[in-house]
Formats: sequence, C-alpha cells, structure tokens
Amino acid sequence: MSCVFCQIVEGTNPGDILFHDSRVMVFRDIHPQAPVHLLIIPKKHISSVTRLTGEDENLLPHMMTTAIEIAKREGLWGKGFRLVINSGQQGGQLVPHLHLHLLGGKQLSGQLG
Ligand code: AMP
Ligand code: ZN
Repeated sequence: MSCVFCQIVEGTNPGDILFHDSRVMVFRDIHPQAPVHLLIIPKKHISSVTRLTGEDENLLPHMMTTAIEIAKREGLWGKGFRLVINSGQQGGQLVPHLHLHLLGGKQLSGQLG
C-alpha cells in the first residue's frame, strides 16, 4: 500500500489540493500550524531529502520556486513566510514522503530547534 502522500497524488485519499504540475503537488496541511500551512511534495515517492538522486536533478529547486509562487498567490509576499524540510527522526519527519512546509499568515515563532 502506498504512503499517505502518494495516496493524495493518486486521488485515493482526499487532499485540499491547490496546485499540481507534472512533478509536484501542493495541498493544505491537515493540522495547520499557521493560517497558511501548505505542503509541497514531489509526485514521485521519495522518502526523504536524503534519498534524492541524480535522476531528481532540479526537483528541489522546482519545489522551492513552486512554494514561492504559491506564497505569492496566498498573499504572503509582503509579509514573509517560512519554508522547512524535516528529515529523519531527530529532524521531526513524521511522513516518509519528501515534503516542503510553507508556513505563514502570522508572526512565526523564532524557535527552530
Ligand atoms: P513532518 O513532521 O515534516 O513529516 O510533517 C508531516 C505533516 O504532514 C504534518 O504537518 C501533518 O499534519 C501533515 N499531514 C499528515 N497527513 C496528512 C494528510 N492526509 N493531508 C495533509 N497533511 C497531512
Ligand atoms: Zn509516497
């Protein structure tokens, strides 16, 4: 059985999807930690940022530029926002499918660790 984010990509699990193209998908986090809390994921299953290979060239920059474009659409450009990737146990990664968090819409905490 595929992982929860692959299920959102496949359409077997509902997601609040804002955008997708051939390589990435953007949907709202189910437990938002800010007024805007989106997840930018590769459509291909990659378990962690540490599992990117040469085949995935330009995927991370594409995820970043997608996030920045969506931040603009969500009205965050003038206000600021945060982009975060958690990796592995101590990094706090809970879902084993690479994802970039986009957080904004309030003054975010200064704590990152
Ligand atoms: P991380 O701790 O970086 O692995 O973050 C995983 C994120 O995925 C958390 O913020 C969860 O709230 C979110 N999440 C888990 N399941 C779903 C889902 N089905 N749809 C949307 N977001 C989810
Ligand atoms: Zn997956």
